[in-house]
Amino acid sequence: MAKHKFSTKAIHAGQFPDPSTGAIMTPVYLTSTYVQEELGKNKGYEYGRVSNPTRTALEKNIAALENGKEGLAFASGMAAIDAVFHLLPSGSHIIASKNVYGGTFRIAKMILENYGLQFDFIDTSDISLVKKYLKPNTKMIYIETPTNPTMQLTDLSAITKFAKKNKLISVVDNTFASPYLQQPLLLGIDITLHSTTKYLNGHSDMLGGMVVTNNSKIIEKLRFLQKSFGGILGAFDAWLCLRGTKTLSVRMERHCKNAAIIANWLSKQKKIKILNYPGLKSHLQYKLAKKQMKHPGAMISFDLGSLTAAKKFLKNVKLCALAESLGGVETLISHPATMTHASFPKNIRIENGVTDGLVRLSVGIEDVEDIIADLKFALSKV
Ligand SMILES: *Cc1c(COP(=O)(O)O)cnc(C)c1O
Repeated sequence: MAKHKFSTKAIHAGQFPDPSTGAIMTPVYLTSTYVQEELGKNKGYEYGRVSNPTRTALEKNIAALENGKEGLAFASGMAAIDAVFHLLPSGSHIIASKNVYGGTFRIAKMILENYGLQFDFIDTSDISLVKKYLKPNTKMIYIETPTNPTMQLTDLSAITKFAKKNKLISVVDNTFASPYLQQPLLLGIDITLHSTTKYLNGHSDMLGGMVVTNNSKIIEKLRFLQKSFGGILGAFDAWLCLRGTKTLSVRMERHCKNAAIIANWLSKQKKIKILNYPGLKSHLQYKLAKKQMKHPGAMISFDLGSLTAAKKFLKNVKLCALAESLGGVETLISHPATMTHASFPKNIRIENGVTDGLVRLSVGIEDVEDIIADLKFALSKV
């Protein structure tokens, strides 16, 4: 499928009419095991934890979208992230972006450090700082760009260069951008991963994770880890996600178009103290966003100055749904300090810009006028 362009791949990669019926949609293979013809002879499938044809279709589909050779689908984004960290032997040091997803910080600090991995969460947008944290036992650099929820960017080409020079595995959590906006493997990154719960599925009706790489040694290790831990994506969820990826490009175009209009409107509201959106000229990395992303995304965060103001605002939105998560067709709004980032110690949270007044918006694909009217009403109550 390499010769096809993105939207064509989104619809067709990994999928073919069912050989027994011609069904155009990949069936949901609800089976735990596969009958073998004779000892040692099977059709490529042996047991459901190891592989499933619906899951295989999704893995091939998303791998194609990321321009990667192979991918593996996990039960959730966290299961995918856990597997990636397990590539490393005990005693390894990892440099990671400081504003990573809260669950990533939690698994690193509260679980994996007990098993001998060491993490430094730093501002990876500053490559000179990244260089300072290099240790003899550093084995991986783990990036989120744009970061959650302050929308800082990290220069992926600079990270690739640094990682290659120092023989580190480079990893990008590409959930916020989706492969439609950003393809880290094309910039030389070793592993790209996703919470497919977000844009890739796009309809807020399943949880899943995905890891894609061009490195066959890495994929073999991950396959072994996945088979051993068993954090696999179920067939029905794989099918839902496959259904989602078909419309990824049209959804992302609309998400981003709406977000740009909303960010522009928010920039004119006096009650908003700080506005984070990489598509605004005022954003520190506006140029980098132009360079490494197709569009600046559909995630926006803004500071209303205090917890009281944020509470009032969130109590008065009606169309925007107050909920964790992001990337669905509906606009979601959240309060990172008490929701997604509650697992960060307060001092670190504030230092990372996740202040008590910060509100995060995952712009949906509704009519933008309706979203703005909702935000305008809620803002009038602050
Ligand atoms: C949601 C999310 C995760 C975790 O994914 P789950 O599917 O909820 O386990 C990881 N990284 C980012 C950036 C996310 O937004």
